[in-house]
Amino acid sequence: MDPGAPASCFAPIFPHHSDPTHAMQIRILRNECCGHGNCVEIAPDVFALDSKNRATVLDPEADLPAKVMEAAEQCPCSAILVLDDEGEVVFP
Ligand code: SF4
Repeated sequence: MDPGAPASCFAPIFPHHSDPTHAMQIRILRNECCGHGNCVEIAPDVFALDSKNRATVLDPEADLPAKVMEAAEQCPCSAILVLDDEGEVVFP
């Protein structure tokens, strides 16, 4: 990731094979991310670590929303927020 990357990384995710109006969103609080990499282990096609060892979103649609939720739940730094299609936080 480039040095000019924003403090938070924000990307929509869509449930596979379902109504895209039920889209969810991922927000990574990059200043809170401590680079443990749990999210990358759980959903390696969705998350990656950048050159500063902070998480970023590769492809928000690359895995099931349940995996994204698991990644958020397993983040030791509470750096992953999941929001619904109206911007309401559904996790944490
Ligand atoms: S699990 Fe949390 S702290 Fe670890 S890399 Fe992912 S977002 Fe950062």
